[in-house]
Parts: sequence; C-alpha cells; structure tokens
Amino acid sequence: MNDSTSSASGSQPNLPVWTVGSCLDWTQQYMEHHDDDKPRLSAQWLLSAATGLSRIELYMQYDKPMTDQEKTSLREFIQRRLNKEPLQYISGRTAFRYIELKIVPGVFIPRPETETLVDLVLKEQAQRVLEVGCGSGAISLALLHEQAELLVWATDIDSLAVSLTEENYTNLGLAEGSGAEGQKRLVVIQDDLASSLLQDPDMLASFDVLVSNPPYIPSPDLDSLPSEVKEFEPLAALDGGPDGLDFYRRLLDQAVQLLKPGGCLAVELHETRLGQAAELASAAGFSSVDIYPDLNQRERFLTATL
Ligand code: GLN
Repeated sequence: MNDSTSSASGSQPNLPVWTVGSCLDWTQQYMEHHDDDKPRLSAQWLLSAATGLSRIELYMQYDKPMTDQEKTSLREFIQRRLNKEPLQYISGRTAFRYIELKIVPGVFIPRPETETLVDLVLKEQAQRVLEVGCGSGAISLALLHEQAELLVWATDIDSLAVSLTEENYTNLGLAEGSGAEGQKRLVVIQDDLASSLLQDPDMLASFDVLVSNPPYIPSPDLDSLPSEVKEFEPLAALDGGPDGLDFYRRLLDQAVQLLKPGGCLAVELHETRLGQAAELASAAGFSSVDIYPDLNQRERFLTATL
C-alpha cells in the first residue's frame, strides 16, 4: 500500500489515489495471501475500524479517498490481525442480538451462541434478573434492551469488565426514560460471583432469574483453544477448573440462596458437561432441569427451576 509516482501527462505527477474500495480489495488480497481464514470479512472489519464507516457505508463510499490517518490506522490494524488478534479487539466493537457493544482487550468477547441464552431468559418474563460474570455486559444489556420493566443486577470480579458494562449501559441509552424517577435499571457490582449480595438480606430469595455464562472450559482443554482465543482473551473468563464446572458448582450454591422459590437458573456450559451439570442442579434442590442446544446443535445451555 505504498503511494508511488507514475508517469504524468501534465506537470503534476499522477499519484494513484487509495480509495475505500481499492483499499478493501487490496486488504482482502493481502489477508488471503497471509492465510487469513476469512479475508473478505477481515478486510471489511479492518477498513471499518480505520475509517469509522459501517460495513454498508464502505460500499456506499467506495470511491472516497482514504486520508493519511486512515491509511496509517489500516496498516497498524492489518499488522495486529496478522498476529491473530481478534477483529473485535481491533475494531473495539461487536454486535450482540440487536445492540452494538464497545469491546476492549482484557474483556471476554461475547459469542453469537450466547444470544440463545438471552432467549431462554426472555421466556421467563422476569422482573428482577441477576447476571453473574457480565464481561462487556452483553447478556444484561440485551435483556434490558428487549424487555421493558426489567431490573438487572450484574456482577463481575474484574474492574475492567465492570466499567465496560457501565459504559455500554450509558452508551446504549438504556439508562434513560424507564423505571421510577432516577431509578437505574442496571446495577453493576464488582464481586466474586454474587458473594456480596449474599450478605444483603434484601437480596436473598429476591431474583426471578439468575443467568450466567461462567468460565467453563475444562483446564486441560485450554491449550487446544485457537490462538486467537488463548493468546488474546482473558483466561480468567474461560478457565472452568479441572472439569469446567468449578464456577457452576459455586453458582448453584449461591443461586439457591438468591433465587425466589420458583425462580430460574439459566447457564451456558461446556458441551461435554451438561449431563453432569443437570445432576448437580437436581442434587442442589432444583427441579424441571432442561438442556438446550446451541446454534451448532451441541448441548450448551441448562435451565432449572428452584
Ligand atoms: N464459548 C467460549 C469459547 O469457546 C467459552 C466461554 C466460557 O468459558 N464461558 O471460547
């Protein structure tokens, strides 16, 4: 992508102008040449990040010349992508259901399969939901966006995740125009699971739903994760202990104290652990334990009623 002088008909040198369109095509070919799995998609994301244009706008502004600043950013972003950094960290954004979230390195990137977990929670028509391990806030914020008259408490042990969830809540405008005057619809708390809520008598047996996508990759499997995941995403958001169920076991214990009688636990877990997770839920006092598949038809979600 070097600007070079070519022969000129007049006195002015005829510099080739890099447009959005020519950069898109060039980046696609470059990524393809460097064995990127999805060169077209990568090129679109990288151009969007460099120009601030949406993917549709890239095509509407195909002939727009790139500024020097945009070209400099594009070079940097291409280099980061070649090092296998996830596109969501490079662009700083991702889509989840009907919302767009800010994403920063150090916080887990929401996955498309987790959108199904939101559907399972929406079916409950809950008034008070607790999300444990909110990351960027994807689940809580999608719920608030799609269901009126909902109050959500969200926890995460990581202060970066807590501040990102707050920021996404504000950016999405979900804080305005609902609930009683001055009442927030989302309370975000830095906490180890929901341990601090257990100390508050008002919180005990108060939630209709406890939802979580906890760290659930069995530790021995961490090494075989794609380098995009294991080298860039926070391991603390992935490592579920020897059998992937460490957080789930603690979650069950807290859920029986925080859910109302008849309340629902909704969790995402590792595809090999749903049977064992269902047994643990029954042993902890839950009934109506159901397992649901993800988009790839692998067992992924569990709901259970207290
Ligand atoms: N689904 C994620 C992955 O495969 C793992 C999510 C988690 O541990 N909660 O990378």
